[in-house]
Amino acid sequence: MSNKVFGIFKGIGLDLLNLFYPATCCGCGEALIKGESQLCLSCIAALPRTHFHDMEENTIETRFFGKVKMEYATSFLHFEKKTITQRLLHEIKYDGKKELGKMLGCFFGNELKESRLNNIDIIIPVPLHPNKLKSRGYNQSEWIAMGISETMGKPLISDALIREVETNTQTKKNAFERWENVDGIFRVALPEKVKGKHALIIDDVVTTGSTIEACATELLKIDGTTVSAAALAAAE
Ligand SMILES: [Zn+2]
Repeated sequence: MSNKVFGIFKGIGLDLLNLFYPATCCGCGEALIKGESQLCLSCIAALPRTHFHDMEENTIETRFFGKVKMEYATSFLHFEKKTITQRLLHEIKYDGKKELGKMLGCFFGNELKESRLNNIDIIIPVPLHPNKLKSRGYNQSEWIAMGISETMGKPLISDALIREVETNTQTKKNAFERWENVDGIFRVALPEKVKGKHALIIDDVVTTGSTIEACATELLKIDGTTVSAAALAAAE
Protein backbone atom coordinates (compact mmCIF):
# COMPACT_ATOMS: atom_id res chain seq x y z
CA MET A 1 0.00 0.00 0.00
CA SER A 2 1.38 3.41 -0.92
CA ASN A 3 2.10 5.87 1.83
CA LYS A 4 -0.64 8.18 0.55
CA VAL A 5 -3.34 5.51 0.65
CA PHE A 6 -2.12 4.35 4.04
CA GLY A 7 -2.33 7.95 5.25
CA ILE A 8 -5.96 8.22 4.11
CA PHE A 9 -6.89 4.97 5.86
CA LYS A 10 -5.08 6.08 8.95
CA GLY A 11 -7.02 9.36 8.90
CA ILE A 12 -10.35 7.59 8.50
CA GLY A 13 -9.42 5.12 11.21
CA LEU A 14 -8.73 7.89 13.70
CA ASP A 15 -11.99 9.65 12.80
CA LEU A 16 -13.90 6.39 13.26
CA LEU A 17 -12.20 5.84 16.58
CA ASN A 18 -13.29 9.32 17.65
CA LEU A 19 -16.82 8.58 16.51
CA PHE A 20 -17.12 5.58 18.82
CA TYR A 21 -14.80 6.72 21.59
CA PRO A 22 -14.70 10.51 21.30
CA ALA A 23 -12.13 12.45 23.29
CA THR A 24 -14.15 14.37 25.84
CA CYS A 25 -13.77 17.74 27.52
CA CYS A 26 -12.31 17.52 31.05
CA GLY A 27 -14.63 20.34 32.07
CA CYS A 28 -18.09 19.40 30.77
CA GLY A 29 -17.67 15.87 29.41
CA GLU A 30 -18.91 16.79 25.91
CA ALA A 31 -17.08 15.42 22.88
CA LEU A 32 -14.19 17.59 21.75
CA ILE A 33 -14.13 18.82 18.16
CA LYS A 34 -11.15 19.01 15.83
CA GLY A 35 -8.50 21.41 17.12
CA GLU A 36 -9.64 21.14 20.73
CA SER A 37 -7.65 19.26 23.35
CA GLN A 38 -8.37 18.60 27.05
CA LEU A 39 -10.97 21.40 27.26
CA CYS A 40 -13.65 22.62 24.85
CA LEU A 41 -13.69 26.26 23.82
CA SER A 42 -16.75 27.11 25.89
CA CYS A 43 -15.16 25.67 29.06
CA ILE A 44 -11.97 27.64 28.36
CA ALA A 45 -14.06 30.80 27.96
CA ALA A 46 -15.91 30.04 31.22
CA LEU A 47 -12.80 29.46 33.40
CA PRO A 48 -13.23 31.59 36.56
CA ARG A 49 -9.98 33.56 36.20
CA THR A 50 -8.96 35.72 39.19
CA HIS A 51 -6.70 38.30 37.47
CA PHE A 52 -5.16 38.77 40.95
CA HIS A 53 -1.73 39.29 39.36
CA ASP A 54 -2.98 42.56 37.86
CA MET A 55 -4.03 43.86 41.30
CA GLU A 56 -1.93 45.51 43.99
CA GLU A 57 -2.20 43.65 47.31
CA ASN A 58 -4.59 40.91 46.31
CA THR A 59 -6.20 38.45 48.74
CA ILE A 60 -3.45 35.84 48.22
CA GLU A 61 -0.66 38.27 49.10
CA THR A 62 -2.39 39.33 52.31
CA ARG A 63 -2.36 35.68 53.50
CA PHE A 64 1.42 35.90 53.84
CA PHE A 65 1.58 39.26 55.63
CA GLY A 66 3.56 38.98 58.85
CA LYS A 67 4.52 35.37 58.08
CA VAL A 68 6.99 35.36 55.23
CA LYS A 69 8.41 38.01 52.86
CA MET A 70 6.62 37.43 49.58
CA GLU A 71 7.27 39.74 46.62
CA TYR A 72 4.06 38.79 44.80
CA ALA A 73 1.48 36.03 45.12
CA THR A 74 -1.39 35.11 42.86
CA SER A 75 -3.60 32.35 41.52
CA PHE A 76 -5.06 31.64 38.10
CA LEU A 77 -8.57 30.44 39.04
CA HIS A 78 -11.10 30.87 41.82
CA PHE A 79 -11.65 27.60 43.68
CA GLU A 80 -15.11 26.67 44.89
CA LYS A 81 -16.59 23.26 45.60
CA LYS A 82 -18.68 21.64 42.86
CA THR A 83 -17.37 24.00 40.17
CA ILE A 84 -15.28 23.43 37.05
CA THR A 85 -12.14 24.39 39.01
CA GLN A 86 -12.65 21.63 41.56
CA ARG A 87 -13.32 19.13 38.77
CA LEU A 88 -10.21 20.12 36.81
CA LEU A 89 -7.94 20.07 39.88
CA HIS A 90 -9.22 16.63 40.81
CA GLU A 91 -8.49 15.32 37.32
CA ILE A 92 -5.00 16.81 37.31
CA LYS A 93 -4.16 15.39 40.72
CA TYR A 94 -5.95 12.05 40.88
CA ASP A 95 -6.99 11.06 37.35
CA GLY A 96 -3.61 11.24 35.63
CA LYS A 97 -4.52 14.31 33.54
CA LYS A 98 -1.09 15.87 33.79
CA GLU A 99 -1.34 17.29 30.25
CA LEU A 100 -4.40 19.25 31.41
CA GLY A 101 -2.24 20.69 34.20
CA LYS A 102 0.37 21.74 31.68
CA MET A 103 -2.22 23.32 29.40
CA LEU A 104 -3.72 25.37 32.25
CA GLY A 105 -0.15 26.28 33.24
CA CYS A 106 0.35 27.66 29.71
CA PHE A 107 -2.80 29.81 30.00
CA PHE A 108 -1.59 31.02 33.41
CA GLY A 109 1.94 31.72 32.12
CA ASN A 110 0.53 33.84 29.31
CA GLU A 111 -1.15 36.07 31.87
CA LEU A 112 1.87 36.12 34.21
CA LYS A 113 4.33 37.29 31.57
CA GLU A 114 2.17 40.38 31.04
CA SER A 115 1.90 41.04 34.80
CA ARG A 116 3.99 42.31 37.75
CA LEU A 117 5.43 38.80 38.04
CA ASN A 118 7.31 38.98 34.74
CA ASN A 119 10.56 39.81 36.59
CA ILE A 120 10.94 36.41 38.26
CA ASP A 121 14.11 34.44 37.36
CA ILE A 122 13.34 30.78 38.04
CA ILE A 123 10.31 28.55 38.57
CA ILE A 124 10.17 25.98 41.40
CA PRO A 125 7.22 23.60 41.87
CA VAL A 126 6.21 22.51 45.38
CA PRO A 127 7.85 19.07 45.56
CA LEU A 128 6.15 15.80 46.49
CA HIS A 129 7.74 13.36 48.90
CA PRO A 130 9.58 10.64 46.87
CA ASN A 131 7.10 7.99 48.11
CA LYS A 132 4.13 10.05 46.91
CA LEU A 133 5.85 10.74 43.60
CA LYS A 134 6.36 7.02 43.16
CA SER A 135 2.72 6.12 43.88
CA ARG A 136 1.19 8.97 41.81
CA GLY A 137 3.79 8.73 39.04
CA TYR A 138 4.09 12.49 38.56
CA ASN A 139 4.05 15.75 40.46
CA GLN A 140 0.97 17.72 39.37
CA SER A 141 2.54 21.03 40.44
CA GLU A 142 5.57 20.27 38.27
CA TRP A 143 3.33 19.79 35.21
CA ILE A 144 1.55 23.08 35.91
CA ALA A 145 4.99 24.67 36.33
CA MET A 146 6.13 23.22 32.98
CA GLY A 147 3.37 25.11 31.17
CA ILE A 148 4.20 28.32 33.04
CA SER A 149 7.92 27.90 32.34
CA GLU A 150 7.36 27.37 28.62
CA THR A 151 5.14 30.40 28.12
CA MET A 152 7.11 32.75 30.40
CA GLY A 153 10.44 31.60 28.95
CA LYS A 154 11.90 31.13 32.46
CA PRO A 155 13.81 28.02 33.60
CA LEU A 156 12.03 25.32 35.59
CA ILE A 157 14.14 23.94 38.45
CA SER A 158 12.35 20.93 39.89
CA ASP A 159 15.20 19.50 41.97
CA ALA A 160 16.20 22.63 43.91
CA LEU A 161 13.72 22.03 46.70
CA ILE A 162 12.90 18.64 48.26
CA ARG A 163 10.21 17.40 50.63
CA GLU A 164 11.90 15.48 53.42
CA VAL A 165 8.91 14.48 55.52
CA GLU A 166 5.91 12.57 54.27
CA THR A 167 2.73 14.18 55.55
CA ASN A 168 -0.78 12.77 55.65
CA THR A 169 -3.43 14.10 53.34
CA GLN A 170 -4.39 17.61 54.40
CA THR A 171 -7.97 17.68 53.18
CA LYS A 172 -9.60 16.67 56.47
CA LYS A 173 -7.48 18.77 58.80
CA ASN A 174 -8.39 22.21 60.05
CA ALA A 175 -6.30 25.30 59.28
CA PHE A 176 -4.23 25.14 62.45
CA GLU A 177 -3.32 21.47 62.01
CA ARG A 178 -2.38 22.10 58.39
CA TRP A 179 0.00 24.77 59.55
CA GLU A 180 1.67 22.46 62.04
CA ASN A 181 1.84 19.75 59.44
CA VAL A 182 4.18 21.40 56.93
CA ASP A 183 6.52 23.41 59.16
CA GLY A 184 10.12 22.46 58.38
CA ILE A 185 9.37 19.61 55.97
CA PHE A 186 11.14 21.17 52.96
CA ARG A 187 14.85 21.64 52.33
CA VAL A 188 16.82 23.43 49.61
CA ALA A 189 18.91 20.68 48.03
CA LEU A 190 20.69 22.83 45.44
CA PRO A 191 21.31 26.29 46.96
CA GLU A 192 23.65 27.27 44.11
CA LYS A 193 20.72 27.12 41.69
CA VAL A 194 18.59 29.59 43.67
CA LYS A 195 21.23 31.90 45.15
CA GLY A 196 20.49 35.55 44.31
CA LYS A 197 17.46 34.61 42.20
CA HIS A 198 13.82 35.64 42.34
CA ALA A 199 12.06 32.27 42.57
CA LEU A 200 8.41 31.70 41.64
CA ILE A 201 6.95 28.84 43.74
CA ILE A 202 4.17 26.89 41.97
CA ASP A 203 1.42 24.91 43.71
CA ASP A 204 -1.87 23.44 42.50
CA VAL A 205 -4.10 25.00 45.18
CA VAL A 206 -3.50 27.64 47.82
CA THR A 207 -5.77 27.53 50.87
CA THR A 208 -4.17 28.78 54.09
CA GLY A 209 -0.87 29.30 52.27
CA SER A 210 1.04 27.16 54.78
CA THR A 211 2.66 24.87 52.19
CA ILE A 212 3.91 27.78 50.09
CA GLU A 213 5.02 29.57 53.25
CA ALA A 214 7.08 26.54 54.33
CA CYS A 215 8.77 26.42 50.89
CA ALA A 216 9.40 30.17 50.86
CA THR A 217 10.91 30.11 54.36
CA GLU A 218 13.56 27.62 53.23
CA LEU A 219 14.32 29.43 49.94
CA LEU A 220 14.72 32.75 51.78
CA LYS A 221 17.53 31.25 53.88
CA ILE A 222 19.68 31.30 50.73
CA ASP A 223 21.74 34.42 50.19
CA GLY A 224 20.05 37.10 48.08
CA THR A 225 17.06 34.95 47.14
CA THR A 226 13.59 36.48 46.88
CA VAL A 227 10.30 34.61 46.38
CA SER A 228 6.89 34.97 44.80
CA ALA A 229 4.14 32.36 44.52
CA ALA A 230 1.56 31.31 41.96
CA ALA A 231 -1.10 28.64 42.49
CA LEU A 232 -3.37 27.28 39.79
CA ALA A 233 -6.37 27.85 42.05
CA ALA A 234 -7.15 29.72 45.25
CA ALA A 235 -9.79 28.86 47.83
CA GLU A 236 -11.14 32.05 49.35
ZN1 LIG B 1 -16.26 21.66 28.00
